[in-house]
Amino acid sequence: APLLELRDVSFTYPDGTRVLDRVSLAVPRGARTALVGPSGAGKSTLLSLVERFSDVTGGAVLVDGVDVRELPRAALRARLGYVEQEAPVLAGTLRENLVLAAPDAGDDELAAVLAAVGLTGVATRSPAGLDAPVGEGGVLLSGGERQRLAISRSLLARPELLLLDEPTASLDARNERALQDALDAVAERTTLLVVAHRLSTVVGSDQIVVLDGGRVVGVGTHAELLETT
Ligand code: ADP
Ligand code: ADP
Repeated sequence: APLLELRDVSFTYPDGTRVLDRVSLAVPRGARTALVGPSGAGKSTLLSLVERFSDVTGGAVLVDGVDVRELPRAALRARLGYVEQEAPVLAGTLRENLVLAAPDAGDDELAAVLAAVGLTGVATRSPAGLDAPVGEGGVLLSGGERQRLAISRSLLARPELLLLDEPTASLDARNERALQDALDAVAERTTLLVVAHRLSTVVGSDQIVVLDGGRVVGVGTHAELLETT
């Protein structure tokens, strides 16, 4: 079975808004899948069903072939990593920002996840290194660096599937490129599902699923989708 599968998933909010209409897709283990579509297409709602913040109103979400409604939420979330659109930086040091989900991680492991997202330099910006406070009076980070710090924080928990919601939405061109490079490296270690509203931001994906008005309207590689649109 694929790592994640949606079978004929429909979802209607309690107020009656129907947001997903018989959506089927498969996220193979080890691959990088993108979910693309305009604002309002239902992308965030779909992610919330995977994490079980809500439950489907039709169809099923399966992880490794098992309906997520049969898995304890804690067990499910231990297998998933999620990085929101404007990932927060926490009060505290770089180390505290990283080890949230992995309190026992050693310095080598911290260095490795920082390197994986191109952030090796942040730990040497201050003489205090990883123990420098983040923010005012310590290590200042750009929006893109904060996003990548959040990704390295998730990596430390070794998720089987990492969900990224619009990781480049608020970034300038330089930070977007750095984030793309980071995703290339992260894709070597874990299965990725990346949500975006523009096709250009998901060029490196193995598979792109296009969602519009709550329906899947296209599936293919970047090149295949460009040919048909
Ligand atoms: P996307 O992430 O693709 O922009 P969303 O999943 O955020 O799309 O939203 C899809 C649709 O669901 C939108 O029309 C939005 O207004 C609606 N929606 C989102 N949250 C709720 C809610 N809590 N109750 C009712 N409708 C909602
Ligand atoms: P919000 O906009 O949600 O109020 P802020 O942007 O003010 O949040 O900051 C949230 C956290 O991020 C705070 O702990 C703050 O110290 C830290 N922070 C803010 N700006 C930066 C920055 N440029 N680099 C690193 N940390 C920052």
